Amino acid sequence: MRATRFFISTTKEAPSEAELVSHKLMLRAGLIKRLGSGLYTWMPLGLRVLRRVEAVVREEMNRAGAIELLMPAVQPAELWEETGRWAVFGPQMLKIKDRHQRDFCFGPTHEEVITDVARREIKSYRQLPVNFYQIQMKFRDEIRPRFGVMRAREFLMKDAYSFHASKASLAETYQIMYDAYTRVFSRLGLTFRAVAADTGAIGGSASHEFHVLADSGEDLIAYCPDSDYAANVELAEAVAPATQRTAPQETLREVETPKQTTCEDVAALLDIPLTRTVKLIAGMVKGSAGEQMVALLLRGDHMLNEVKLGKLEGFSDFRLANEAEIRAVFNCSPGFLGPVGLDLAKIRVIADHTVAAMSDFVCGANKPKYHLAGVNFGRDLQEPDVVADIRNVASGDPSPDGQGTLQLCRGIEVGHVFQLGSTYSQAMNATYLDEAGKSQAMEMGCYGIGVSRIVASAIEQHHDEKGIIWPATMAPFWLVIVAIGYGKSEMVRQAADTLYAELIAAGHDVLLDDRDERPGVMFADAELIGIPHRVTVGERGLKDGVIEYQPRRAAPGQSGEAQKITLADATEFLT
Ligand code: ATP
Ligand code: MG
Ligand code: MG
Ligand code: MG
Repeated sequence: MRATRFFISTTKEAPSEAELVSHKLMLRAGLIKRLGSGLYTWMPLGLRVLRRVEAVVREEMNRAGAIELLMPAVQPAELWEETGRWAVFGPQMLKIKDRHQRDFCFGPTHEEVITDVARREIKSYRQLPVNFYQIQMKFRDEIRPRFGVMRAREFLMKDAYSFHASKASLAETYQIMYDAYTRVFSRLGLTFRAVAADTGAIGGSASHEFHVLADSGEDLIAYCPDSDYAANVELAEAVAPATQRTAPQETLREVETPKQTTCEDVAALLDIPLTRTVKLIAGMVKGSAGEQMVALLLRGDHMLNEVKLGKLEGFSDFRLANEAEIRAVFNCSPGFLGPVGLDLAKIRVIADHTVAAMSDFVCGANKPKYHLAGVNFGRDLQEPDVVADIRNVASGDPSPDGQGTLQLCRGIEVGHVFQLGSTYSQAMNATYLDEAGKSQAMEMGCYGIGVSRIVASAIEQHHDEKGIIWPATMAPFWLVIVAIGYGKSEMVRQAADTLYAELIAAGHDVLLDDRDERPGVMFADAELIGIPHRVTVGERGLKDGVIEYQPRRAAPGQSGEAQKITLADATEFLT
């Protein structure tokens, strides 16, 4: 590809709302352009990366025996009513009406559609097992789209669904898919961990998530370095030793606060440093209304709000996290910032224990006995964010398998495999005739990969101050030829064109930077875009018969410095 016939649009600065390095670099390198909240155009350069990820996923799916199809993105409500999910899926589902006022959704996932395919097509055990997959845009109206394509509303997913005549067959395919996922993420050059996940409301029997390890990840995972134990924190919590949950409450500090206490007062009294992160301090407050459970939301030097979690009764199992460990990063509308006076008599902070299920308190605020006062949900509080770090497990806790202690780390969920069992097939009457001619509900598995999220995750793991450093399998181009003075120098043009033609003939994806730009601009772009190999062709070198080669990232044991190679040997050296 010649740069002059392609579309490269890089910028020096990233928009200020981009927080994550991957989001910044994707915008700066011109991989994506924002259309609206959680909606992105994949620009030509970004699309090349996305397609390469897709290609690896597709290859491994095919190798695992999955069969590709493509289902409609828009799905009729009736299907979702069969499984009851039309009512319970919640606001993540984008519901739409057609001209006849019939209800549809833009598919957030495809269990219902594929189960409909299966019940129409599969009649006999002889047709099982079968595993279908597609690579398709999903839409989920995320409560807070953020980090670019990392948590978008429209995003590309590979979703596979398998159907079986027995649980054993399901377990077998599950393992094949698990192994295929391991190959996908390894081939894509990602450092990742598979963790056991909660099977939750759907009630399947086994589930694993694949997480790309990154401090910027939204998920917490717990693992034991001395054994195979690894789980997402929700599951680790569920099996956390009971002793931890029933530990006696212990008062660490008790402070009297004057009337109209500000955030600074509270922080000073509790000796809590005020940082830019939002802190959520849960405590018991004795005031005129009796003893109340409250959470104080602090950000910077502002008190954001006081959240009344309710009267003490009914919260006997509610313990408080060490406030230093609670970081609830959430979005607060700017108009809401500012010191809010607090009328408290006493704040008692009980530390050293985490909240058993803060999410139940905060998210379940509309349940009886749960109260949130003065908080506008959706505006001030975002359910998943508030609970982000409030956990019942901590680094150093005993591992549930008894083999050592747990470590916590952050991850980005890029894949999820799930043994669903027969929940959907029963609800939708997806049956087959077994060997004895008896009608049975099919066993089912589902398997997702966040194809577009992988692109951002890879950048989180592979970048430096100059830009992206693509793993070879994902790079938009394998090599860039920076031709200095291409339009002015016949010598440069000839040398660059010849090398370009030879490398293309050898089957490589090469970008020839033939733009009329200063060398500094071309180098900076090549580094920002993250092309693994670079060759510089200029008049100065060509006079001695040489060109310059530089890898984007130094190979192990090598300096990564630019090195001169003779033009005559170039193709052989590079390939
Ligand atoms: P998350 O916990 O991050 O919200 P999920 O568990 O809701 O993800 P799944 O239903 O398991 O997602 O979907 C399969 C995969 O799709 C996920 O593992 C993830 O990689 C990807 N994915 C889910 N939501 C998004 C999103 N909003 N933007 C980009 N990718 C997503
Ligand atoms: Mg989700
Ligand atoms: Mg998840
Ligand atoms: Mg998931």
